[in-house]
Amino acid sequence: MFPGAVFQKEKQYSKGMNNSLHKQSAIPEWNLESLYPSLNSPVYEQACRDYSTCMDALDTLLAAVPEDNFADWLVQYQLQYNKTAALGESLSAYAYILYSTDTTNKQYLDNLSKMEAWDLRIIQQKQQLCKALAAHKDQLEPFYTKLAAFTPQAERYRFVLAQLLTRTEHQLSAQEENLAADLQRTGGNAWGRLQEQIISSLADKASGKTFNELRNDAYSADPQIRRQSYEAEISLLKENRIALAAALNNLKGETITLNKRRNWPQAIDRSLYASRMSSRSLQALLQAVRDSLPLWRQYLKTKAAVLKQHGATAQKTSSAGIAFYDLFAPLPDIQQAGKTTKDSLTNKIWQFDEARHYIIQEYASFSQEMGDFASRAFSSGWIDARIRPGKVGGAYCQDFPVQQESRILSNFTGTFSDIITLAHELGHAYHHFCIKDMDYALRSYPMTLAETASTFAETIVKQDAMRRSSGMDKARLLELDLQDVCQVLVDILCRFTFEQQVFDERKKGELTADDFCRFMLEAQEQTYGDGLNDVRHEYMWAVKSHYYSTSLDFYNFPYAFGQLFAAGLYARYQQEGSSFARTYTALLTDTGSMSCEDLCRKAGFDITTPDFWQSGIELYAKEAEELSQIVTA
Ligand SMILES: [Zn+2]
Repeated sequence: MFPGAVFQKEKQYSKGMNNSLHKQSAIPEWNLESLYPSLNSPVYEQACRDYSTCMDALDTLLAAVPEDNFADWLVQYQLQYNKTAALGESLSAYAYILYSTDTTNKQYLDNLSKMEAWDLRIIQQKQQLCKALAAHKDQLEPFYTKLAAFTPQAERYRFVLAQLLTRTEHQLSAQEENLAADLQRTGGNAWGRLQEQIISSLADKASGKTFNELRNDAYSADPQIRRQSYEAEISLLKENRIALAAALNNLKGETITLNKRRNWPQAIDRSLYASRMSSRSLQALLQAVRDSLPLWRQYLKTKAAVLKQHGATAQKTSSAGIAFYDLFAPLPDIQQAGKTTKDSLTNKIWQFDEARHYIIQEYASFSQEMGDFASRAFSSGWIDARIRPGKVGGAYCQDFPVQQESRILSNFTGTFSDIITLAHELGHAYHHFCIKDMDYALRSYPMTLAETASTFAETIVKQDAMRRSSGMDKARLLELDLQDVCQVLVDILCRFTFEQQVFDERKKGELTADDFCRFMLEAQEQTYGDGLNDVRHEYMWAVKSHYYSTSLDFYNFPYAFGQLFAAGLYARYQQEGSSFARTYTALLTDTGSMSCEDLCRKAGFDITTPDFWQSGIELYAKEAEELSQIVTA
C-alpha cells in the first residue's frame, strides 16, 4: 500500500582480493519456469490480462467512494489492492530480471516500458486513495473489525493507514501537486540529472580514464596510481565546480520551498517519516557513532602507519593520519612466515559448489530453517551467477510475491567477496521468505530496515571466516570489514553533518562552490578529524549523487542504521545463542507493519538510547584491536 523507499546499495567498486578468473565448473544460470515460462507463454499472457482487470477494478472502486459505509468500501478496496499489487510486483520483477541477463533484447526492453506505464496508474490510484482516507478518517474504526473477517492481520493495518494519513497531511491540493510534479521535471530533477551528466562525461586527458575508473583506482595496490587518480579527480571536479554548485544550490533550494509548503518544518522530518523512525532514535544512533569516532581515527592511523612502514603510500608527511586517497588501499603483504597458507580463505579461488556448501553451512549454523532455505534456493535454480555478455554487473535479489519465491543475480568469479555478495543477496531472499505470508499491504519495509537481513547474513559469514583464519589472511578480512564499516559510520556521519549545514545555510541564502567546499572540510574535520592527514577531499559534495535527489533528503543515516542494527542483532545472537533465531525471524516478519521503535520494543530492545547501538559498535572495536595486534606484531 505504501511503497517502501527504494534502498540502493552504495555502488561497490571491484575490490576482489584475487581477480584471476580460473576455470570454474558449473556456475549456474537461474531457472524461471516456476515463475512464468516465457513472455510468450499462455501463463504469462493470462497474468497480464488478470493484472489489467484488477487495475480496472481498483479504478472502478475509486470512482465510487461512498459517503456512508466507507469501512465496507475500504475492506473491498484493500482486498482488491493486496491481490493487484502482489501480481503487479511479480510481473514487473519478471520483466526486470529477464532484461538484466540480456540487456539488448528488444522484446525485454519493450516489456519493461509496458510496466513503467502501469506504474503511473499505481501512483494515481494511491493519490486518490489517500484523498478518500483523509475525507473519511473518522469512519475508519469499523474497518478493522470488518477486515478481521478476511484476515487475522487486520489490526496491523492501523499502522499502514496511519502512515498514509500522515502522508496526506503533507500533500498540497491535487492541482498544486500536479504543478509541482510538472515543474520538478525541469527543476530539481533536471538539476540532479545535470550532476549525473557532468560526472559521467568527465575524463582525464592525461590517462584517458573515465571518472569512474579514476575513482576505482582508490582500490589499487599501487600507491602512485591511487594518488595520481585522486589528483586527477579533484582537478576535474574543480573545473566543473560552478555548474555542480549551481545544481546543488538550486535543488536544495527547491526542496526547502516544497517542504515548507508541504508542512515539513525541517528536511530531516520528511526523511524520518519515510524511515519510520523517531528523531529520538536518530539522535541516539548519531550519538553512538560520534562516541565511536576515537576508535575509527585510531584504526585509520594504524592503517596509515602500516602503509608507511612498508613503502605502500605515496604520502610523505609526518602526520599520523591517513591520506584521503589511501582510505581504500589494500593492506601490503606483511610477511609472517608460517602464518599464511596458499589455500587461505581470501587467497584461493572458490569453486561455485564450494561456495554453495560454505554458505548453506554458515546459514545452518544460525538456524536449521535458514540453512534449509539457502539449500532450497541453490537447488531450485534461484541463482544466476554465471558471467556472460549482455548481463548486468553487480548483484541483486528480486522477490516474487505471487509465487512466494525469489531470484538472485550475481557475477561469480570465485573470490571471497563473491561469497559475501551471495550471502548478502540470499539474506534479502530470506527476509522475503519470512514476510511472505503477511498480507501484501503489510510487507513493504523502509530503507532503514531493508538491509537488516542481508547485513546480518553477511555478518554471520564474515565473523566465521575471521574465526577460521589467521595471520595475514585474517588481517585482510579484518581490514576489509573495517574499511567498509568506517565508510558506513564515519563517512555517513560526515555526509549527514554536511547536509544538515547545507539545509541550515541554504535557508538563509544562495550557496556557492566555496561554501560547499568549506562545509565539506568542516564536516570531515568533525568526523574523520586527525584520522586523516591534510590530504582531504573538499569536493565530495560533487561526487555523491545522494545529495542530488529530490525525493530523498539525508539519504545517508539509513546506511548507518542498517549496519549497526544488524551488528546489534548479531551481538544479541552471540549472547543468546540459537534461541535468538526465533526472535530474529519474528522481527523480520514485522518489518512491514510497525515503526522501527515498536518493532524493536517487541523484540526486546530499545533503539531510542545509545546502548543498543553501542553493542553493535563493540563488534568493530574488537576487530580494530585484533587488526592492530596482527599488523604491529
Ligand atoms: Zn542489499
